[in-house]
Amino acid sequence: MEKTLVILKPCTLQRGLIGDILKRFEQKGLRLVGLKMMQLTDQLLSEHYAHLSSKPFFQRVKDSMMTAPVIVCCYEGVDAIAAVRALAGPTNGRLAAPGTIRGDFSMSFQENIVHTSDSAETAEIELNRFFSANELFTYKQSSFDYLYASDEF
Ligand code: ADP
Repeated sequence: MEKTLVILKPCTLQRGLIGDILKRFEQKGLRLVGLKMMQLTDQLLSEHYAHLSSKPFFQRVKDSMMTAPVIVCCYEGVDAIAAVRALAGPTNGRLAAPGTIRGDFSMSFQENIVHTSDSAETAEIELNRFFSANELFTYKQSSFDYLYASDEF
């Protein structure tokens, strides 16, 4: 089982889409193991988006992420990192396929609704950055036996 980080960006909160987006992950069958609201800071975003530090839009992306609080979530499931990336769709919402979150809710490269971890290594670093251990929960998902075949986990 993998854990992955999802951030519902300020555009999602301001557009009143929090419920719609959480619903996508819920109906997929991902297990929600952590959820909280946070106001992000320039320092935390500089770490989180360090891979974009040479890009001309680096500061603009960070500023956009600080315009309102975000919702941070940890989801768990078999191959959860890839499954969540597939649900989100590619970065540019205009090019994301209908049916993906970005394809259904975004017209923008930047204002693209969600952040999702892109690898196992990044997911671990990002979860440690945004959650402390006591904010992540372990519980039996009552639907579990109906979500997977017995050889899938
Ligand atoms: P992703 O969020 O799809 O993993 P990246 O890690 O490359 O994509 O970029 C992080 C965030 O920076 C994107 O989600 C988006 O908000 C913003 N971003 C990336 N590339 C661009 C771009 N060319 N123009 C504007 N914003 C961008």
